[in-house]
Amino acid sequence: MLDIPVARSAWQSVRGEIEALFAALWHVPEMPGLEYQSAALLAAFLERHGFSVTRGSGGVPTAFVARKGSGDGPRIGILAEYDALAGLDNDAVPYRSGSGRKPGHGCGHNHIGPANTGAGIAAALAAARLELPGEIVVIGCPAEEICWGKIALQQAGIFDDLDIILTSHGDYQNGALSRPCHAFVSSEFIFRGDSAHAGMGTVRDALKTAEEAMAAFNVVLTERFPDTSEKHIFRSAGVMPGVMPEEVRLWTSLHHSDLGPMMQAYQALKAVFTEVAGRTGVGLEEKFISACRGYLPNHAAGRVLDECLRVIGPPRWSEADIAWMQALSAAASPSKPFELDRGIKFFDKGTDYYGQDDGDVSWIVPLARLNWAYPTTVPIHHWAWTALSGHVSSSPGPLMASEAIALAAVTFLSRPDLVKAAQAELRERVGDEIITVVPPGINEIMAEDPTAFWEARW
Ligand SMILES: [Zn+2]
Repeated sequence: MLDIPVARSAWQSVRGEIEALFAALWHVPEMPGLEYQSAALLAAFLERHGFSVTRGSGGVPTAFVARKGSGDGPRIGILAEYDALAGLDNDAVPYRSGSGRKPGHGCGHNHIGPANTGAGIAAALAAARLELPGEIVVIGCPAEEICWGKIALQQAGIFDDLDIILTSHGDYQNGALSRPCHAFVSSEFIFRGDSAHAGMGTVRDALKTAEEAMAAFNVVLTERFPDTSEKHIFRSAGVMPGVMPEEVRLWTSLHHSDLGPMMQAYQALKAVFTEVAGRTGVGLEEKFISACRGYLPNHAAGRVLDECLRVIGPPRWSEADIAWMQALSAAASPSKPFELDRGIKFFDKGTDYYGQDDGDVSWIVPLARLNWAYPTTVPIHHWAWTALSGHVSSSPGPLMASEAIALAAVTFLSRPDLVKAAQAELRERVGDEIITVVPPGINEIMAEDPTAFWEARW
């Protein structure tokens, strides 16, 4: 029988360390693939609690795999993320105070890493006290924000021996999820033309070609792929208007609820780019980054997480926490009323708006995810999310998630039948489909010189 008090007291014993790491990671926001300090802090946390840690797992320098327990029961994987986002630095104050030029935790991965890692530590501690066979495996997953790290780890077989996977993320609601999110594909295109004085009209213009190609594809997208969404940035597009850039780099990303139709849209994008570049005589090179499915729902796994969450209860915000978040909301979204989900629900309908690099993983190992709520007036991937993630008023959400994941991990260790039910559901949903990852194109550069990737010279 599961001993809930043992699991909860084990979690309480590491709670202080989890909270200290929320702040520690927030203060060292690191770009995807460059999370050396964040990975080291979490690996040290695990080693302090008796986990054996392998660093640089799967050829990914800032990844790690930490294990504790015995191998003759279920193996419970718990995912830790810890990368930050470009240009989203902000002080932990309820107003805009940042340069917009440095990384910041605008997606709250400073919470996910410590919350999920702490959950794993607490679960292993409780399992030892309860003499439960099985293993807790905490996987340090870098570079989620460019949707790459877990795909590379999956390709390297890092998830292959796991029986079930648990994870969490900040969002706008509290609850376990069993519903799909978006598939995505991401690629960089290099347009190569002539460098010359911009007044000369006869040369091959890489920038105009790239702009024209993107505009042409958006017409095709609207007409032929209305369910696919497109985002792009120009990574390099010259230094001054008087000099036409020889090289222009365009980073594009497509989203759709399904991988297949999305890849068709991606093929159309490449065809349009090739046609436009061919017409202007500009060189074109595709530098593929990554692609991934959306989540495969798993009600059996999600329901366990939901039940554990109901034992823990919703986030316990103080009046001061709410007041701080209200002040931040007034600065970030002045025209909107303050709204914060203070309950718990199970989310098994609809499709989530984001893409995740553990999408493919959820098709080979049952994956259950838990969300915690921020106010709807604090936009994700925004300076306000960075501000809130650095302030103690945001802690009750990820603490709730951490404790619930610890309890769920202990539940799965003590009830292998629940793990088997989740695996059976996965097999039924996948059917005959062979699940393979689309091989990412940046494994080598991210392993050898991630700075070159970020400086757009890979
Ligand atoms: Zn995120």
